[in-house]
Amino acid sequence: MKSIRIHQFGGPEVLKLEELPLPKPAPGEMLVRLKAVGINPVDTYIRAGLYGPRTFPFTPGLDAAGIVELAGSDVRKFKAGERVYLSGSVSGAYAEYALCREDQVHALPDSLSFTQGAALGVPYVTAYFGLVKRAQALPGEILLIHGASGGVGVAAVQTARLLKLKIYGTSGTDKGRGLIREQGALHVLDHRAPGYLDEFMKLTEGKGADIVLEMLANENLGKDLKILAAHGRVIVIGSRGTVSIDPRDTMTRHADIRGMSIVTASAADLAEVHEAIGQGLASGALRPVIGAELSLSQAASAHEQVMKAGAYGKIVLIP
Ligand code: NAP
Repeated sequence: MKSIRIHQFGGPEVLKLEELPLPKPAPGEMLVRLKAVGINPVDTYIRAGLYGPRTFPFTPGLDAAGIVELAGSDVRKFKAGERVYLSGSVSGAYAEYALCREDQVHALPDSLSFTQGAALGVPYVTAYFGLVKRAQALPGEILLIHGASGGVGVAAVQTARLLKLKIYGTSGTDKGRGLIREQGALHVLDHRAPGYLDEFMKLTEGKGADIVLEMLANENLGKDLKILAAHGRVIVIGSRGTVSIDPRDTMTRHADIRGMSIVTASAADLAEVHEAIGQGLASGALRPVIGAELSLSQAASAHEQVMKAGAYGKIVLIP
């Protein structure tokens, strides 16, 4: 099978397309034939070595969708031929096939394409975990999604609609803002325009945000604290550096800065989140948007693209 392999940490050029023998599932594992693979920013951090040591060579990638090819002994929930999406795997997702444990595999409804299935794992788990588990969002609350045009942002708009929040979303491009509007945000703002957060305060009649889902905290955390309502919560989802804040901004508001990482979420929380995502997929409320499809051999180009401004939904690879 074809697979992308990493032999050393580095830039996108360390992603090498290679031929590997087809792996065999151990008891409790299954072999999934992958039809689409999701690209996440975290894949680039792992490739660069920012997430700690790895045994080389390895196949990167967490998210994908496909068809169960072979279920090993002791696999109870799935059988060969079933459509599934992966949220993690044993052998890595940038490949034609992946070995997975049963808890890494979830049913993919017929109403979703494989490319949409490859956009579910990291983004939709992050959106639901952020809004429900960390923010403890209540119906009617004002939500600012600071970076709503990418994989997590679109998932967050759709999840927030299910939770009946008042959604404000930002993007740095017209195309991104159009996407957020189509997804059902009440108002969209340009995070590159001067004064856009003053505009947000006007739109909320001076109340501010009950919740901010923050995709780039190193740029925005200090500003987020100033536009929070009383008892507001900033959920730090993404950050690529350090930032200076005024702690006083949290005091009179009784405000919280809450970090999160789905990597260290408990198995029980993740099972609950996947159950909720399954319900959202079944009702049609959750429908990933695919912005770009590339071939597996273009993994390096996908890594460059996902780190550039101008996000529009999800980038996927087709093996
Ligand atoms: P993505 O698809 O690349 O989207 C990035 C988003 O950030 C886009 O909406 C982009 O908007 C926006 N952005 C760019 N500059 C911004 C700014 N100055 N202010 C606010 N937003 C800005 O990435 P993603 O998959 O949605 O992930 C978003 C971030 O969350 C990444 O840093 C990722 O590593 C992190 N993440 C964390 C977890 C966790 O467990 N904590 C899980 C998943 C993802 P424009 O391109 O329109 O400017």
